[in-house]
Amino acid sequence: AWASSKPPLLRFLNACHADFTPETGGAVADYIPELGKADPAHFGISLATLDGHVYEVGDTQVPFTIQSMSKPFVFALALDTLGAARVESVIGVEPSGDPFNSIRLNAENHPFNPMVNAGAIACSGLIYEAKGDAAFDYIRQALGRFAGRELDVDDAVYASESLTGDRNRAIGYLLRTNAVIKDNVAQVLEVYFRQCAILVTARDIAVMAATLANRGVNPVTGEQVLSAYAISRTLSVMTSSGMYDYAGEWIYRIGIPAKSGVGGGILAALPARLGLGSYSPKLDKHGNSVRGIKVCEALSSHYDLHMLNRS
Ligand code: GLU
Repeated sequence: AWASSKPPLLRFLNACHADFTPETGGAVADYIPELGKADPAHFGISLATLDGHVYEVGDTQVPFTIQSMSKPFVFALALDTLGAARVESVIGVEPSGDPFNSIRLNAENHPFNPMVNAGAIACSGLIYEAKGDAAFDYIRQALGRFAGRELDVDDAVYASESLTGDRNRAIGYLLRTNAVIKDNVAQVLEVYFRQCAILVTARDIAVMAATLANRGVNPVTGEQVLSAYAISRTLSVMTSSGMYDYAGEWIYRIGIPAKSGVGGGILAALPARLGLGSYSPKLDKHGNSVRGIKVCEALSSHYDLHMLNRS
């Protein structure tokens, strides 16, 4: 009787958590050595609706690093801070079909889009151009407004990536020689490494996603975090390029704009409906959380949420 008095959505999320807990496939990312210390058993699912309800099941209060889920937010911040024309003059919006860490640029020697590392580093460069040494804190505070609380940084993960991030450094210098980054490559990379090491929980990610789904208004705090214009453009690039080299398959099968991170998080934002945050650190070969993908598949099919199947 008690179980059936729970809201149906919470019962559904509980069932997902129970069904996918036995799923132990995939591997924790360890190319950033400190990430390898994550507990592979952790599994949290949170869903925020646009009336500000936040549902939580499992390890939704466990902090982990945001990694590539920072990319949509910093892109949106760059659009509002520097203007779309400046941002679009150096970063494309075409899917690349390449892995996240691809070093390949497009025919204009610009990053393909802001969801791969090259484009994200370019976004950090634009924020650095506008804010100088205050750039990182400007980013951290903006992400905090999406989450509805102040966010911290995992210094150990930051230091670990900064120590081993030669591939991203190579991308940074390639961007400078192509005038995408003006100067200060080393400082821009530190901003990027720090932004990737911002600590979030599955609950934070759900609220951040719901803010994207709500045209930039945080449904819990009521704050308009960024412009509706920046948010819709951000959701566009999440739709075409958010899930690494699985993006096409993802939007075909699941039909919800999303972004994943190598820390094990998946953020999914269905416009005008909901935000989902999941955390489970074991990743598939594309770098997407194995259990997180299962949760999104189940959510999309159970509630018939494919964005191109609406009336
Ligand atoms: N900081 C990570 C990197 O640049 C982020 C990668 C990701 O989450 O996709 O390698």
